[in-house]
Amino acid sequence: MKIFYHESYNINIGLLKFIHPFDGMKFGKVAAQVQQESLAEIVCPQSYISDFAINEFLDALLCKLVLHKRPVLEALEAPYLPLIPYSWLQKRVLIPMRWGVAGTLDAAKSALKGNDSWNLAGGYHHASAHSMEGFCIYNDIGISYQQLLASGELTADDKILIIDIDAHHGNGNARTFHDNSNVTLLDVYNADIYPNTPVSRQRVDIAVPLPMGTDGELYLNKLNTALQQLSSGYKLAFVVAGTDVLATDPLGGLKLSIADVAQSHKRVYQRLKVLNIPTVFLGGGGYGKDSAAAIIAGIKAVSDR
Ligand SMILES: [Zn+2]
Repeated sequence: MKIFYHESYNINIGLLKFIHPFDGMKFGKVAAQVQQESLAEIVCPQSYISDFAINEFLDALLCKLVLHKRPVLEALEAPYLPLIPYSWLQKRVLIPMRWGVAGTLDAAKSALKGNDSWNLAGGYHHASAHSMEGFCIYNDIGISYQQLLASGELTADDKILIIDIDAHHGNGNARTFHDNSNVTLLDVYNADIYPNTPVSRQRVDIAVPLPMGTDGELYLNKLNTALQQLSSGYKLAFVVAGTDVLATDPLGGLKLSIADVAQSHKRVYQRLKVLNIPTVFLGGGGYGKDSAAAIIAGIKAVSDR
């Protein structure tokens, strides 16, 4: 397993961390421990994703909106911060996320060459070509898919799988691939929280809606059943491995332990390996104090360490 990380992934929002739950510095903590324990090779994306790739993916309206402070702040669920200049947002949030998108693209290229990979950032599953929301500005899977088609590393006939084990439903991925029957969505999510968008929920091929407060045992049983419905023949799998399923997460509303999260990562990966599907894990959400520890446990679990 190769780990994709760049120091620019880290979102340093300074004192604002006291009013916003996201620990944007967790990527560096995870990378430091991966290095310290020699868990895996760390690979850096060479640059952030280009304006060209972004503009090719976003629709015309969103291309304009992302250049303005107010809509970006609303997508980051912080519209009450009017004194922040756009240049600050660009430097502290948008550019780090563009590094995250590049990491997803590079990790996908790596997986297609036979090296399964884990991008510590990315997994921005609430964004789409038409919408930025839920801390997600750029849909990294959609942008990467488009770039891989353009480079010929994927064809339009290739079957792609997205397994979303973040606590939230991946509405942005569902919208992005709404009309693409070659993309299969498996989504395990807390059905009682954001985003409750019926059209995107209905797009999910294998849906596992869970009630608020679901514990690790039930979660893992349901995940297992869903994984058994998958078949082989996919060219690539993206796994949105958000750790906001943890009981200590302030937003996810589920009750998994760190060991449960590691087990979920392991079961997903084992199933994908049985089916011989190249795999890319992506960061996704994770807003609590144990998020970095759960990511490390997940990396160890899939590496059998
Ligand atoms: Zn989430």
